[in-house]
Amino acid sequence: MIQRICSGSLDGIDGFEVVVEVDAGRGLPSFQLVGLPSTAVRESRERVLSALRNSGLAWPKGRVVVNLTPADVEKRGPSVDLAIAVGVCGVTERAEPGARGDAVLLGELSLDGALRPVRGLLAIVTAAAATGRRLFVVPLGQAREAALVPEVTILAASTLADVVRWRAGRGCLETIVPASPAPCRREPSPSLLAFLAHAPARARRLAVLAAAGRHDLLLVGPPGSGKTQLSRVVGTLQPALAAPEALEVARIHGAAGLLSSPELDLRRPFRSPHHTATRAGLLGGGASLRPGEVTLAHHGILFLDELSEFSPGVLDALREPLEEGRIAVVRGAGVRFWPANVQLLAAMNPCRCGWHGSRRRECRCSERLRLAHRSRLSGPLLDRIDLFAELEEPEDPLRGDVIGDPGRIWELAVADAEAGHARLAGRSRARPTSLAEARRSLDASAAALLETAGASLGMTVRSSMRCAGVARTLAALGGRTRANRDDVVEALSFRREQLAVLA
Ligand SMILES: [Zn+2]
Repeated sequence: MIQRICSGSLDGIDGFEVVVEVDAGRGLPSFQLVGLPSTAVRESRERVLSALRNSGLAWPKGRVVVNLTPADVEKRGPSVDLAIAVGVCGVTERAEPGARGDAVLLGELSLDGALRPVRGLLAIVTAAAATGRRLFVVPLGQAREAALVPEVTILAASTLADVVRWRAGRGCLETIVPASPAPCRREPSPSLLAFLAHAPARARRLAVLAAAGRHDLLLVGPPGSGKTQLSRVVGTLQPALAAPEALEVARIHGAAGLLSSPELDLRRPFRSPHHTATRAGLLGGGASLRPGEVTLAHHGILFLDELSEFSPGVLDALREPLEEGRIAVVRGAGVRFWPANVQLLAAMNPCRCGWHGSRRRECRCSERLRLAHRSRLSGPLLDRIDLFAELEEPEDPLRGDVIGDPGRIWELAVADAEAGHARLAGRSRARPTSLAEARRSLDASAAALLETAGASLGMTVRSSMRCAGVARTLAALGGRTRANRDDVVEALSFRREQLAVLA
């Protein structure tokens, strides 16, 4: 009798269901695996054979054929080991699994029959649940991760023998109850608290504004002006994720093998790739079909320090996630879209040597070199950034204007960012998608002002839209439903057209 067992595999960041069919017949003992298995899956023959023997389970005497369907999609990774072994056992014992035959079995086998974790388990369970599967057997160590998926029953198993006994109705497996996520936020380090307490009021305002509206931000300034620290403040002030967003983030990080805890983490991701990162590393895809930094930063922050040092091709490709919240990943002849709803925080030096405009050192760049430095960032990319600010080095970093207890200053900033974010509720990005929508968030005099200022500063339509989006967040921070002239004036002060170093 043919055994059919449901399992799953991972393709990029998405899971898909795999049905394992096992048949045994007369003939010389052999084991054939068909249905586009990758190398890792082809090697499952050896693992399954050893695991069965070391678990005291019988191996069929004749010829065994294992077919993985759908046959036209490559199965990567050893997640189907458990289903193959249980299927082989089933044909040997001529088992009738009954109701338990509907369970989805997932797990890699070690040679002694123990179940090992599977990369991308959350993505695989999510995909199978979407097709109506409700019962899953997974490795014990990963059971709490799988239980994050709503409306499924997760059973945890330690060994192949446990699963075989359970399937034959001779034993029980532990049912895992999902834990509800604890509200959490990133805690500021002492140095970050001190930095915010000493920062100028305008820098504090900028951090709250960027965090509340998830606005893309470019900071320009010489070394030591606090660009990285201010970006970290924005990352730490971020409002918490909603549970479905957190689940999506966990699914992506699990597929990349980066899930560190089985708890649902409501903190937004903060990714800071180095400027030497490859195109595939940043944007995703490549031979391994792994998510890139833009996808790992989905719903969170992508921090690019030394922005002008990234390759121009990579920077231009960032326009898509900044505009659409997704990235196209080419695979073979096809294209797929992966989520990349990122908030870009970027920092750069004002010139090649870094000291242009500094009080401490003299810039040694020629005018031509300075122009070349800033021209590495294309106009279309800059147009898609909401906020620009030039930071100056403090005269003495620890003797700025402190107005009270650093902890209290931090709490106020957190409260402001959260209140502003809540008033913008319902928008995953605080950015209008058309000029008409942008104008609706401004009152009449504010709209007139933006139009006049846009014309005199030579702002593009996209730049004006971004400016209106910032004004809308400023209005939300002030408790107003529509932005007024003051909000537009303040939003304009953060536009690049006002920044000598980029204009
Ligand atoms: Zn210079």
